[in-house]
Amino acid sequence: MEVGAWGTGLESRDARLSNCGQTRDGETEGASFMTQRAVADMAKVGAEQTGQLPRGSEAGYLTKGSIRRKPVGPLLIYRTLRPLRFSQLGYLVMRRVFRRRSPAVKLGTPVGLRHVSEDWPFPEDAAAKNMLATREFTFLNQTVRCHRAIPRSTTEREFEIPDSEGRSAIPWDDRRYPKLWLYHLNYCDFLNARFALPEEEGLLNAAVDIALDWLQQNARGTEVGWEPYALSVRIVNWVKFLVRHGRRVELLRGAATLSALLESLGNQAATLERRLEKDLLGNHLLKNIKALLFAGAILETSRSSRWWAEGEKLLQRELDEQILPDGGHFERSPMYHSQVLADLAEIRLLCRATGRRLVCSRLLSEKIGAMARFLRGVLHPDGEIPLFNDSALGGARPPAESLAMAESPDAKVIESESPVTVFPDTGYGVIRSAESRSALIFDCGPVGPDYQPGHGHCDLLSYELSLEGQRVVVDAGASTYEPGQERSYERSTAAHNTIRIDREEQAEMWASFRVGRRPQAGGIRGGAHGGFPFVSGEHDAYRRLGVIHARTIVLHAPYTWIVADLLKGSGSHLVESFLHFHPRVRVEGCPDCMETSTGLPLRRWTVILGDQSYWLATYGPGQFDLHQSWYSERFGNRQPSTVLSWAWRGPIPAGMIHIFTPMGASLPHIAADWPGNSIEIAGAKIPLR
Ligand SMILES: [Zn+2]
Repeated sequence: MEVGAWGTGLESRDARLSNCGQTRDGETEGASFMTQRAVADMAKVGAEQTGQLPRGSEAGYLTKGSIRRKPVGPLLIYRTLRPLRFSQLGYLVMRRVFRRRSPAVKLGTPVGLRHVSEDWPFPEDAAAKNMLATREFTFLNQTVRCHRAIPRSTTEREFEIPDSEGRSAIPWDDRRYPKLWLYHLNYCDFLNARFALPEEEGLLNAAVDIALDWLQQNARGTEVGWEPYALSVRIVNWVKFLVRHGRRVELLRGAATLSALLESLGNQAATLERRLEKDLLGNHLLKNIKALLFAGAILETSRSSRWWAEGEKLLQRELDEQILPDGGHFERSPMYHSQVLADLAEIRLLCRATGRRLVCSRLLSEKIGAMARFLRGVLHPDGEIPLFNDSALGGARPPAESLAMAESPDAKVIESESPVTVFPDTGYGVIRSAESRSALIFDCGPVGPDYQPGHGHCDLLSYELSLEGQRVVVDAGASTYEPGQERSYERSTAAHNTIRIDREEQAEMWASFRVGRRPQAGGIRGGAHGGFPFVSGEHDAYRRLGVIHARTIVLHAPYTWIVADLLKGSGSHLVESFLHFHPRVRVEGCPDCMETSTGLPLRRWTVILGDQSYWLATYGPGQFDLHQSWYSERFGNRQPSTVLSWAWRGPIPAGMIHIFTPMGASLPHIAADWPGNSIEIAGAKIPLR
């Protein structure tokens, strides 16, 4: 079947292709958001935040009923728990039943600080000094100002008494704030800074005050800051702080202050040892391991060598488990990949700074090198990560910093190789065109590891595309982990650049991190067909409906990107394809500009990226809807963005093609043979699986 020989219409952009009015201002600033309840609560506690974005329904997309919510019943719970490891279930029960209200462990013995002779080489937190100076805590695009100063204690063990309503000046455990925000506050990243100059003594004092406030206000061991993930991040920050400043803290504030901080740190590490996240595993357990190693290497207690040994044993096991042979982290989230890479590089720095050697030090370096290669391989031309699977900018160190910490010479060579890079274990494929500063990152991986898919989204066969150095087609991102319709939408199939069948989700996502039925994606391939770079893959999410979706993406170098979707199977189905555009991109369509080419409709849109314009062309039948949704580049931030959805109902096998090409360029001749599972581009036959 012929689907289009395109060439004549391109130069004569007639009136039919003019602006149809369905555009929006691409310059709209992003805004922060909170749930209305949280906003009201923040106002109550005198906190300030930076703005507010409407709920998802007010942003005009969720009201279309795009997500079908399923009731949580025993079968869904069974499908969620069944893939878990038996040991995970055991630890889960132990945590839920025994540990929930258990108090912090008290070591009861003095805790010392080992001398670190070499330079302490860890990067500092860029925002730390400003937060300490202003007592304004900004995380996830939400700022809380804590201007009620903590009075300096008159004796070493006296700290501020909370106000008459029992609230601390810093809301460490105020559950009216979003939990992820409280986590960030409790990480104490703002202690990870160097206050070496004489004029920075005030900042050092402020840091000590805040640390003392933490231990005064979090005395029980059941506060949110004692949850093992937050506990782990804070332990490392406190260790770094005391290694840098322990001696000056002693001089400025007295030996008892230093002892109080060290005693608390020892108790925190001892509590963590009891609360290792063996039920969750994944990146959480790696954070626990890093904290055990830092505490074991730096603190002098009767348990230090045990913490080191436990951390070392678990690290060796988890390196093999979590870092796939192609270098990708097994949770398939570029942001958590970056975090894990930086954590592993910091463990290596810790060993160097303390003169220790891990049994698995060689494996550690190999994995760091492989992870650096992977990270460099999936970056957009703007140098940042794609936003698949709970990724957000700013949620990990900038990639350039992580790559520098990895110190891997191998990580630098990837761009000079073939335009196609396939990571077969992670399931990612990348096509680059250096000439047009363009890159397409294709996600053909599974939702996540079977026993830990919590950060996975319904994004099988989705992709992100940069053209001329600029992000154009994007994942909707992740603005929140709070349960609700926004979280559900951001994990849903409709929030990704892929196809949905019969309005069913690719995977059964529920709550904030739960996944019931989950598909297998697979067989990612990449290379060249007829000289054209390609990647392809397929998944079985809709096998139960009788449909297999296969996608092949071809670069007709250097500028034209061709995405061909093949739907194999039988029956008549509702097929919907979604394309999400970056907020800076304007899309102009024309409802009347339909053309027919040998029986198949051809539609076009103008995609405007600054002073560059591309055509988006679609081959195939159906109804199109250009509407507004949102894009979350960072947590706590939603920017209005444009989505094109394309829907049709009909029999399969069938296929759909969409193409991006620079306005004015001449297109290759394209033909499709759906029953024959192939398309033809400029005379080259491309098998579609
Ligand atoms: Zn996503």
